Amino acid sequence: MDKIVVEYCPKCNAQLPPGLEKCPVCGHRMPSKSKDEITFRDIFWLTATILGFVLLPMLIIIGIVVLIIWLL
Ligand SMILES: [Zn+2]
Repeated sequence: MDKIVVEYCPKCNAQLPPGLEKCPVCGHRMPSKSKDEITFRDIFWLTATILGFVLLPMLIIIGIVVLIIWLL
């Protein structure tokens, strides 16, 4: 933990400790990038899980049906 992460206010350029929602100098609201990333990842994983749970059994069923048709 030698690296000290410092953020700068985009409005007044004041040095701020990370994780602040508002600049204490000028009151500028800091953009929350991490929240957007979490929601995007949540959507991605939700879609991936749904696709995995729906598409995988469907592909297996289609594969079995195709195999039965081929064997008949
Ligand atoms: Zn500021």
